[in-house]
Amino acid sequence: MTAQTVSSPPPGSSPAGPSLSPSRAADFKTCPLLFRFRTIDKLPEQPTADQARGTLVHAVLERLFDLPAAARTPAAAATLVEPAWQALLEAEPRLAEIFTAAATRPAVTDQAALIAEADAGGPGTPQLATFLASASALLEGYFAVEDPQRLEPAEREALVSTLVDDELLIRGYIDRLDVSPAGDLRVVDYKTGGAPREAFEGRALFQLKFYALVLWRTRGVVPRVLRLLYLKDAEVCDYSPDAEELERFERTLVALSQAIELAKRNQDFRPKPSRLCGWCSHQALCPEFGGTPPPFPTGEVVRIDLTPADDDRLG
Ligand code: SF4
Repeated sequence: MTAQTVSSPPPGSSPAGPSLSPSRAADFKTCPLLFRFRTIDKLPEQPTADQARGTLVHAVLERLFDLPAAARTPAAAATLVEPAWQALLEAEPRLAEIFTAAATRPAVTDQAALIAEADAGGPGTPQLATFLASASALLEGYFAVEDPQRLEPAEREALVSTLVDDELLIRGYIDRLDVSPAGDLRVVDYKTGGAPREAFEGRALFQLKFYALVLWRTRGVVPRVLRLLYLKDAEVCDYSPDAEELERFERTLVALSQAIELAKRNQDFRPKPSRLCGWCSHQALCPEFGGTPPPFPTGEVVRIDLTPADDDRLG
């Protein structure tokens, strides 16, 4: 792991004022009630096979760059998959639940269908083997769009943060930051999800602009390229922001933070149904689906818990 902090405060610290991560900001934009369930009620969510696979693939790609350039081959990446999965399981044993939960979830991707199929055969090694094989298939997608032997990332899984508008802390984890000899920055984000692209493209770009804003404010350089690598489809999507756009984006984030603070004061987080409800874990508590939210927690400090996996939720 090469997590680095681009600016204060240090990783793991609790911000005193309002703070935003890309995933939480996107939650509020998507549905204020979803934001409340995740950030204020802190309702647990069962890990999905898609999320676990995404976390695993991110871990493998992070470790791949620990190898000497000449050793970064598809075969080497494949050998990293199982040890990386064991390390993730040790850190988060609940991930093992995907092998019992997958069969009850809608199969939204080819890989998810693969896992559901494995579940039908019963518990045990075949499930795990199928899951690990589906992660390896995503890694093949990575090698189809990039040659890691020709890259030396400046940073990986880097925690970046800055204050905007004197009080709003914005921070998030960047999958990879490449810096050219001329000093140009390229922010790279791996997308591993199999959900329909159009449903998540806006969220992905929002996430990358978020990182671009932090880098611009902390380094004084607007990243030249924001790159999305869609591993399932083996596709690259590049976007080049400019300073004016990031200034507008900064104002958007400040307004978003103010809207969140107002909603907290009024304890008013409304549901905003969309096609993304299909991926929501909290339908049973949502009025749009006949549910009733729990009583609003009172007297609690609302913090934005942030880990690399938190941002990967978008992936
Ligand atoms: S089901 Fe839809 S409307 Fe309800 S909380 Fe989830 S995302 Fe929001």
